[in-house]
Amino acid sequence: MSGKIAQKIHMVDTKGQYLKIKDQVDAAVLEVIDSTWFVGGPVVKRFQDNLAKFLGVNYVIPCANGTDALQIALMTLGLKPGDEVIVPAFTYVATAEVIALLRLKPVMVDVDPDTFNVDPAVLESALTENTKAIVPVHLYGQCADMAPIMDFATKHNLYVIEDNAQAIGATYTFPDGRKQKAGTIGHIGCTSFYPSKNLGAYGDGGAMMCNDEKLAKELRMVANHGQSIRYYHDLVGCNSRLDAIQAAILDIKLKYLNDYSDARNAAANFYDKAFANNSNLQIPVRAKNSDHVFHQYTLRVKNGKRDELKKFLEASNIPSMIYYPVPLYKQKAYQEHWTTDKTLPATELLSEQVISLPIHTEMNEDILAHICETLNSFF
Ligand SMILES: *Cc1c(COP(=O)(O)O)cnc(C)c1O
Repeated sequence: MSGKIAQKIHMVDTKGQYLKIKDQVDAAVLEVIDSTWFVGGPVVKRFQDNLAKFLGVNYVIPCANGTDALQIALMTLGLKPGDEVIVPAFTYVATAEVIALLRLKPVMVDVDPDTFNVDPAVLESALTENTKAIVPVHLYGQCADMAPIMDFATKHNLYVIEDNAQAIGATYTFPDGRKQKAGTIGHIGCTSFYPSKNLGAYGDGGAMMCNDEKLAKELRMVANHGQSIRYYHDLVGCNSRLDAIQAAILDIKLKYLNDYSDARNAAANFYDKAFANNSNLQIPVRAKNSDHVFHQYTLRVKNGKRDELKKFLEASNIPSMIYYPVPLYKQKAYQEHWTTDKTLPATELLSEQVISLPIHTEMNEDILAHICETLNSFF
């Protein structure tokens, strides 16, 4: 029985989430306007300090967006044209884009088909004398396996820059039981406050995280035209700022981030139960050393009918997304960095099998049950 549902179903419900905190948000935004301190200033500082406390990291350096965060991280580490940076081939383009933009060489590696994250076992095969850094991505809300990645990086003297645009608030557990938040484990962590991200602003925003004082100072300088004293430019930098209105909104939403993660997990658990016995689907595999904040709830469709399923859902007014349909090395702009005719098997498989379902902080059981029933009726 696949009944009708009155509500429109959204991939992300930023409006419903806003309505629950509207009074606080509206007041905070008006306060910034009244202060006329639109860029930088006390509100940005307050948010940056609160986020550092939440993550358990020494320094948070805000910037304009997640892509800038990655770019500023690479600029600050002083990498030179031709230096190689290892990235997963199954990720959002921004991860590799900034590498190519800085005339570094993105070296694309395969991921684990179960966790969707970079497979530490393949790092060795990507290593050359020009390798300088690794950018693991915590895809869909779950940490890449950071312990072996950090061991590998230490052994070969590489920088680790975490792309944590999708997993803010997730926690990684090391083999010795030590816990650290995603984005605070490598030399630099980068995140995005794009509206649909787990900690989303009402516009663009991003930040870098690090524990090293000198590095933090340089990141801050590079984000600000290479200056720490105004009009004295010691480094070639860029202009990348978080504005105070976004910081005020993010500071309010940060207080709810754990609740938001819980709500996403509740939705994911509902989906898991509904699809566990569907042999055509693989539900998200929970990594043994990370919790999950479900930026996306991503299934693998194993009977070759992923695209048909997507059309079927669309016809039933259920939105879904394919993150990501094309391996990076098959993208026109990145083919020059891929000089073999080999392909990466897990990346290929996932680009054909994955489908992400609606998940956000405002899901309810009626909507979830409707989506699950409709989806299961396809098979
Ligand atoms: C969103 C995202 C980014 C880029 O963030 P923006 O704020 O949109 O620039 C980078 N990497 C990943 C994995 C992302 O999901």
